[in-house]
Amino acid sequence: MRVKTFQPWRALLLAGVLAAFPRAATTETAPIYDLLLKNGHVIDVKNGRNGRFDIAVADGRIARVARRIPSIGAKQVVDVGDYYVTPGLIDLHSHFDVFGPWLSLNPDHNCLRNGVTTAVDAGTSGWKGFEAFKEKTIDRAQTRVLALLNIVGAGMYGSGEGGPENDVNEMDVEAAVRMVRKYPDTIVGIKTAHYQPADWEAVDRAVKAAEMSNTVLMVDFHPKPGRGYEELILEHMQPGAIHTHFYGRLTPQIDENNKVQDYMWKARRRGILFDVGHGSGSFWFRIAVPAIRQGFLPDTISTDIHKNSIMLPRATLLNVMSKFLNIGMTLEQVIERTTVNSAKAIRRAELGTLDEGAVADIAVLKLERGRFAFLDSGRGKHIGDKNLRCALTVREGEIVWDSDALSVDEWSRTGAYSNFK
Ligand SMILES: [Zn+2]
Repeated sequence: MRVKTFQPWRALLLAGVLAAFPRAATTETAPIYDLLLKNGHVIDVKNGRNGRFDIAVADGRIARVARRIPSIGAKQVVDVGDYYVTPGLIDLHSHFDVFGPWLSLNPDHNCLRNGVTTAVDAGTSGWKGFEAFKEKTIDRAQTRVLALLNIVGAGMYGSGEGGPENDVNEMDVEAAVRMVRKYPDTIVGIKTAHYQPADWEAVDRAVKAAEMSNTVLMVDFHPKPGRGYEELILEHMQPGAIHTHFYGRLTPQIDENNKVQDYMWKARRRGILFDVGHGSGSFWFRIAVPAIRQGFLPDTISTDIHKNSIMLPRATLLNVMSKFLNIGMTLEQVIERTTVNSAKAIRRAELGTLDEGAVADIAVLKLERGRFAFLDSGRGKHIGDKNLRCALTVREGEIVWDSDALSVDEWSRTGAYSNFK
């Protein structure tokens, strides 16, 4: 992919020319922006923006964000007055792979159409398969795919008894750390998941690998007798580590009276992050609704999207975000947890913002009103009146999804056409 750099002198030059010779500029000056999104309701939490702004893009980067940017300076102008405009969304927990169509999803088909411009693969591959994964999937995707490396060398292949995911000999800390160090731009941390034996080997080795590589840790955890959840989040995980699937039924986050357990608050105070990781089985309204009503909101909202969860219960990011909107979170809270919070969690603060100079990854979203049904992992439904839909996605300055045809003219105005030449 070609490297694009924003050239601020071009913007300054045009601004000067427009001020000095407004009439001449309309006919003689070449546009300085490749794309201008006009009139959208921008929600950019990092920059404290929640209101009407224009966004100009040049050379694949955000060139300018302002209340009003003249259309004259842009090659292409798209009116997004009926939409929300946010930084490209980040899905902190997703699954793509290279080993066969039985599990794999194509990143671009499943991310870009949902406004997701950055997806973090959560441990589908370990150190043994990572380079093949990178070559065949990550490097070919237009979506920015980052990875949490599975502490299991073989990755997520075999969680049954005797399978590699339960074999501590597969959990080679040094080998995992070497791979993280080899690809620091792509691998953002370590993942542990699906471990069944009732000991702490998988968690503790993953903690160690994250510590040695100075990256983040994500934990998927099934408590066992002698290996409890409270101990995990208060003792074994270190501040900044992420527990995913935390509205699932496997971990005891609320008590029999639906009260959020004291140790959840304690863990949050010590810096443990709680990620949704919806997936097939890990989002229950019966847990999420009481927890959110008591103020225990997720730190990050993610899908755990894979071949099964995308079907039932439809774990696309906008569907998952819509569930939280209908439970009562604000749109700004939901956007914060899919942009700036997610970027911070993986220590990539340059993502999830519309900073001038940042890579131009942008989502244009429609907030629909009506009657919408949402399905959870416990065979329960929630009827809501709001639904988020992605109308247009910009990745590195390029429009890659436009379901409302916002970027093109009505066909009868597109000029003469002949196929008789
Ligand atoms: Zn997962």
